[in-house]
Amino acid sequence: MSIEPTTAPERGDFIRDVVAADLRAGRVETVVTRFPPEPNGYLHIGHAKAICLNFGIAQEFGGHCNLRFDDTNPVKEEQEYIDAIKTDVRWLGFDWGEHLYHASDYFEQLYAWAVHLIRTGRAYVDDLSADEIRDHRGTLTEPGRNSPWRDRTANESLDLFERMRRGEFPNGARVLRARIDMASPNINLRDPVLYRILHAAHPRTGDAWCVYPTYDFAHGQSDAIEGVTHSICTLEFEAHRPLYDWLIENLPVPSRPRQYEFARLNLTYVVMSKRFLLKLVQGGHVRGWDDPRMPTIAGLRRRGFPAEGIRNFVTAVGVAKDNAVHEYAMLEHAIRDVLNRTAARRFAVLDPLKVVIENYPEGEFEEMDVVNNPEDPSAGHRRVAFGRELWIERDDFMEEPPAKFFRLAPGREVRLRSAYFVTCRDVVRNDAGEVVELRCTYDPATRGGDSPDGRRPRATLHWVSARHAVPAEVRLYDHLFSRPDQGSDGRDLFEDLNPDSETVLQGCFVEPGLADVPAGETVQFERLGYYIPDAESTPGHLVFNRTLTLRDTWAKLQAQGRQDTA
Ligand code: ATP
Ligand code: MG
Repeated sequence: MSIEPTTAPERGDFIRDVVAADLRAGRVETVVTRFPPEPNGYLHIGHAKAICLNFGIAQEFGGHCNLRFDDTNPVKEEQEYIDAIKTDVRWLGFDWGEHLYHASDYFEQLYAWAVHLIRTGRAYVDDLSADEIRDHRGTLTEPGRNSPWRDRTANESLDLFERMRRGEFPNGARVLRARIDMASPNINLRDPVLYRILHAAHPRTGDAWCVYPTYDFAHGQSDAIEGVTHSICTLEFEAHRPLYDWLIENLPVPSRPRQYEFARLNLTYVVMSKRFLLKLVQGGHVRGWDDPRMPTIAGLRRRGFPAEGIRNFVTAVGVAKDNAVHEYAMLEHAIRDVLNRTAARRFAVLDPLKVVIENYPEGEFEEMDVVNNPEDPSAGHRRVAFGRELWIERDDFMEEPPAKFFRLAPGREVRLRSAYFVTCRDVVRNDAGEVVELRCTYDPATRGGDSPDGRRPRATLHWVSARHAVPAEVRLYDHLFSRPDQGSDGRDLFEDLNPDSETVLQGCFVEPGLADVPAGETVQFERLGYYIPDAESTPGHLVFNRTLTLRDTWAKLQAQGRQDTA
């Protein structure tokens, strides 16, 4: 049974079709896209989709993609986020070259355009408070009402707008609004706010400004300044498009970008709202924005997800217009697909049980030749020390094994991977009656893991030499939420947090080579899963994060689906 490859070739989609058609028809000469994050948090897996789409299209069609910080709200924005965003985009494999921009670079031009709108009768200063503006806005079924200030003269608005800029008024005292249509069926066209007063220092412009443009006013005009041809955003901006177009039409902008919308990425077990993610960080529910349970790019990286796997996942999801929720298992499948090919295999024992091989000479050791990656012959072999005393996994032994348990048990022979066959002869208990040691014998004729007489044990176990193994802390990660539809039926998201999303194991033993795994490299602990050294790991205190177990639930779901429909 074959599984759909997640490394599907680049597929076409409706946005790529539009771009191709524009190029063919000569409407566009060079494709320019942009990725416009607001630096009010770290990037998440949903942003990865927007990044792959915008940078991907620019690459495929020989254009370029701008990285533009949409930094119009200094109250929530920080330099830390700006730096993290750049790191994450690069790590995902994309390069903006010289095309790094900030909406704040355009504040002077945007201000001039706001003045232009006032002069041409298309904007006015409104003295209503935020609450009053909301009251006047109307609803989906009722038209809005005009502000009493809507018809003040252009000169009066110009004077007030200038004084807003000079800092004469407190936050919220006045705003600049477009004069469009308070009865429009599209609420975004009911005289939207273009500028608000915010006495707040900006990470880039400092105290130069105390009026800041809204997203709607900054966005399209920034696109136009940069010569963006295809301004690709998520579906919730579809209803903003008429405003986007209205502003472009009514301003002397240097180019005429067009906006296209696609569906956000949604995943089971994942919340992508930056506001919620910030609460997790501030409330100490996680180890920070890059906690391995976070759906942030930084979290996924710390968790051990390779960038290639994330890109493949995004490609497999595709670009559509319907808001679907994808299975988290599909992301995991794409990650395993890459790791299975690339991750070096290593031995690690998480819950150690001592094995003493009675007929193996005391104080003697030998080096076993072990394959690094059966999927990749070029990864070669390594030497792993073997001796009389070993650690194996506690749950690889049962004193009274049930029918389908083929691993170690009294009197039973198993293979130790790339080493020897061993047979359990006796168990040693502590005062509490717990098994603390297995006394075994080995068959010297089975060196390397095969018997000349063709004997084939039914189980192969991993192991480490007690004398050589290095202690490690291992952190097991599971979903941040205990249910795939966290927060459904009006439940508070915090109620659905999975109390077992992190399990920290101390006293694990890993083969000595694991002390030298470079940061950022995910390995496979044989039979257990994929693991990566944590950012906190030091030579004196190794820490590994579990990236994923080896069980591919997505592959299983796919296989079942195929059987069901067969
Ligand atoms: P939040 O509302 O949580 O702050 P945002 O969407 O406003 O998130 P931005 O920094 O403004 O965050 O997003 C930058 C770009 O990434 C936007 O073009 C946005 O449409 C896109 N994006 C954000 N979330 C997703 C998602 N889940 N799937 C696809 N694209 C997304
Ligand atoms: Mg946004």
